[in-house]
Amino acid sequence: MDFTKQRYTPMSRRRRIYEGKAKVLYEGPEPGTLIQHFKDDATAFNAKKHQVIEGKGVLNNRISEYVFQHLNDIGVPTHFIRRLNMREQLIREVEIIPLEVCVRNVAAGSLSTRLGIEEGTQLPRSIIEFYYKNDQLNDPMVSEEHITAFGWATPQEIDDIMSLAIRVNDFLSGLFLGVGIRLVDFKMETGRLWENDLMRIVVADEISPDSCRLWDIKSNEKLDKDRFRRDLGGLLEAYTEVAKRLGIMSEGERPQGTGPVLVKS
Ligand code: UDP
Repeated sequence: MDFTKQRYTPMSRRRRIYEGKAKVLYEGPEPGTLIQHFKDDATAFNAKKHQVIEGKGVLNNRISEYVFQHLNDIGVPTHFIRRLNMREQLIREVEIIPLEVCVRNVAAGSLSTRLGIEEGTQLPRSIIEFYYKNDQLNDPMVSEEHITAFGWATPQEIDDIMSLAIRVNDFLSGLFLGVGIRLVDFKMETGRLWENDLMRIVVADEISPDSCRLWDIKSNEKLDKDRFRRDLGGLLEAYTEVAKRLGIMSEGERPQGTGPVLVKS
């Protein structure tokens, strides 16, 4: 279907489907579509810490668009159709699988705390972890046993999710390495997309500095949400830096999409 010529209802008249911590989902212009709206809210520690950071939503919309469009282009299926405006994108409606899929390349955050591995230690190989998406329970880590026993996903779906996770990790690691950034870890979500009678798992939600750990290769400076979690300040500047290096934001105000800027070491 060609969505490029579709009109969409102004925000005020749209039906709100779901409101999360950093995003709102509205009904889309066509059946099977939704509009994903990026808010400026930053939350951490299960929303116990909350702040509005003006401009964050705009940056995450652009960065996530960039990542998802490229994933689509290399044949990694995602829910993303196209960006609509500064804060919104048109997506396919999927049935979200209630798992946060974390891929780690370098020890940090909860892995470092749980296993006593110093932050910054390169892991022997990329590690995939699953967390059950449930705010009341604080998103507990779960194993494949829990996932299949409780019916959150089938063994075949877990295989599909893991191969998607590896492909996304390989793509993102290379993308960020090319602009002088180390992809320490990231979280992704997946959903079931039905096309007639066929169902496939696609990457959903967002991939942005809110959901990745991104460290400058040379200085190890954090360019991600840890700036907020750890009260380091300068979150907007860090996200802008990521966008600029990816060639999304030019030196001026208007995002231009000039392509990645290669950083020579
Ligand atoms: N993450 C996320 N949402 C969550 C939890 C984690 O996007 O609800 C991301 C986080 O930004 C990091 C990765 O998943 O890139 C691994 O997070 P970790 O388990 O270390 O989280 P922490 O306990 O440090 O928040």
